[in-house]
Amino acid sequence: MQTKETYGLVLYNHHYRESDKLVKIFTETNGKHMFFVRHVGKSRFNSVIQPLTVAKFILKINDTGLSFIEDYKEVESLKKINADLFKLSYASYVTALADVAVPDGVSDPQLFVFLTKTLSLMEEGLDYEILTNIFEIQLLERFGVSLNFHNCVFCHRVGLPFDFSYKYSGLLCPEHYDKDNHRNHLDPNVLYLVDRFQAIQFDDLKTISVKPEMKRKLRLFIDDIYDNYVGLHLKSKKFIDDLGTWGNIMK
Ligand SMILES: [Zn+2]
Repeated sequence: MQTKETYGLVLYNHHYRESDKLVKIFTETNGKHMFFVRHVGKSRFNSVIQPLTVAKFILKINDTGLSFIEDYKEVESLKKINADLFKLSYASYVTALADVAVPDGVSDPQLFVFLTKTLSLMEEGLDYEILTNIFEIQLLERFGVSLNFHNCVFCHRVGLPFDFSYKYSGLLCPEHYDKDNHRNHLDPNVLYLVDRFQAIQFDDLKTISVKPEMKRKLRLFIDDIYDNYVGLHLKSKKFIDDLGTWGNIMK
């Protein structure tokens, strides 16, 4: 058991026995661990263990069994995300995606920073659908999927109206479209954006603006990529898909 002071993001909590809770926290220094909180109703930790809370925690971390929260400070709750069902469902999805992308107990400070930064940009009001797409594209490597969205697999030229080929797991330029009869027939702008998303820095994000029709095409392509290369079935993703249907009905 080691005591650590680290930033942490609460992923979820659930009841354990009569009045206790188990809380999963993604810590910056030590990866994800399960923390035991006794008598949660009376506990001073009750407010800090809500999902999507970021705080600086003092933790007793046990590598093999349950860990414990000793103290906390600098709590940041994502109020605007929590007040908006759409934002909240996207935030929950990227969080769930980060949770499945790395095993528990494995330190991944880079992913921690990427996730908390993505959430704080959603909180700030940047486009949550595009932030989610960027997160999904950049997370592919964590699932062992490394795709090149930058140049043609045959001639390696860049900046052309590319199409995607599952046969070659990469891009085809117009001169090499005929290498795959079952190429995707994508709108080339989708691949242009996905290529930008793969390399984008947070500072560039404020300049990205995508029309609803293009967002829909991006969503379909990224779903297709995840179905073919990752194969996840997250409840939080299903919820977003259903939300899209309700959203359309409301329009
Ligand atoms: Zn080519």
